[in-house]
Amino acid sequence: MKPTKPHLRTCLGCGRETEKRDLVRLVRGQEGEVFVDPTGKRSGRGAYVCADEACFETAVRKNRFSHALKTTIGEDDIERLRREFEDLLATDARFGSGR
Ligand SMILES: [Zn+2]
Repeated sequence: MKPTKPHLRTCLGCGRETEKRDLVRLVRGQEGEVFVDPTGKRSGRGAYVCADEACFETAVRKNRFSHALKTTIGEDDIERLRREFEDLLATDARFGSGR
């Protein structure tokens, strides 16, 4: 019998392994579009980043989302993802709402 292990995922910003539920998931959908997945349950290739703008920006700067999701993410997409990410941080109770 194995003990229950936390679902660890690696943050693309800082590279730390963190419990999945504490991370923000980005997903690449069927059409190749990339978006923030608030539920963490959308199907598609996923990438994770801490609920921290610094980690998001590091991942952007090092082009890690494109790499992890095996797609090209343009400037416009980055802008949109940044807004979605910030919205999620501001509204999701998991990450401490009301900022
Ligand atoms: Zn991080």
